[in-house]
Amino acid sequence: MSHQRDLPMPPLTGDEPCTTTYGFFLDNYDQHSGDVVAASTMCRRCPLVRACFIWALANPTLSTDGIWGATTPWQRKQLRKELRHRLGSQSMKRALRSEYARAVAALPRSTA
Ligand code: SF4
Repeated sequence: MSHQRDLPMPPLTGDEPCTTTYGFFLDNYDQHSGDVVAASTMCRRCPLVRACFIWALANPTLSTDGIWGATTPWQRKQLRKELRHRLGSQSMKRALRSEYARAVAALPRSTA
């Protein structure tokens, strides 16, 4: 059995919308609801969006709730299911780790 460590959290600076405003942890994650669209729009403008999205995909137990990287819990669940189906569980984990490293390396210096 492989014991891979959890990925470290994306390098938050404290300026990200989710750290300065409410509205990322919702009662209803209908992807067409105004609250989900508003939070997802803020994510898409955030420099961490890609790293955050991959981190949340790779850490299902730490991201059961909330909008992370412009995705809802249901969307992440579906994406994990598809990735696991296409790649298998271990390859999916490896792919997410390597994509996460790439996403963090591509961050602006002030963020990474
Ligand atoms: S992308 Fe991640 S860090 Fe940025 S606002 Fe969205 S949830 Fe917060």
